[in-house]
Amino acid sequence: MSEIQKTVYDKLIPANESLEVLTKTFIVDGYKVVAQHNPARAVSSGAKLDKATIAKRKCFLCAENRPVDQPSVGYNENFEILKNPFPILKKHLTIPLLRHERQEILPNFATMLDLSKDLPDFTLLYNGPKCGASAPDHMHFQASQYGLTPLDEKPLSEFEIVDGEIKNFGRKCYVFEGIDKQTICKQFETLYNKLEIKDDEWEPRMNVVAHYITSAATWNVWVFARDKHRPSYYEQGRMISPGVIDMEGILVFPKPDDFADVDEAMIRQIYKEVSL
Ligand SMILES: [Zn+2]
Repeated sequence: MSEIQKTVYDKLIPANESLEVLTKTFIVDGYKVVAQHNPARAVSSGAKLDKATIAKRKCFLCAENRPVDQPSVGYNENFEILKNPFPILKKHLTIPLLRHERQEILPNFATMLDLSKDLPDFTLLYNGPKCGASAPDHMHFQASQYGLTPLDEKPLSEFEIVDGEIKNFGRKCYVFEGIDKQTICKQFETLYNKLEIKDDEWEPRMNVVAHYITSAATWNVWVFARDKHRPSYYEQGRMISPGVIDMEGILVFPKPDDFADVDEAMIRQIYKEVSL
């Protein structure tokens, strides 16, 4: 086991970690989606993310605004690894940059691959600034235990992939698979440059997932190309704000009424609206 991963287990992961959430499982057009009722996520899902609100609030990822006794593990001189205080999945980590700089994937993508190689028990996660990141002003990744999402459960070979894009998935999703880091970085940059950047934003809307399979020395990377930040259900009062874990197939519903109402049609509609 890598030294970093061992330190993460020792310092950040409680041995008997439990996560009390209600779930309902759906098969929508052939793919599995789990609805999760998780009231603690209301802070994130309902967060106001306009520029004025963000400028006024104290950044919760900056070290000086965090509890002094919160344990962290340093990584790569630029990042540190923390336990996520509002987990969606077990072993849920937050991995902020040590400096307060905006959420941005391209200059940090190679580090995401490095992190996934150093944390092979985990899946590395990225939310774009308008795609689920609750701190769009402070660069951070997340990680969660590998194997807990519908995306993890299905090997890439079982998807229908045409020209690097998964077909019949209900979501716009591109995949890269390979053993060479530089090649994957180049493939990612090529895709990034093809995607449109909206006015007043600094990168194409996307969620990114990366996992390293140690036994095959291979990276798997999924890029969900996004359109809307939040589906129209959100304007109708439902608290649904999809981030990367939602795109992986675990849709989080902080409010009990929304969780009670979720059905296949709602799931299909959410993915349709937030995907490119
Ligand atoms: Zn910050």
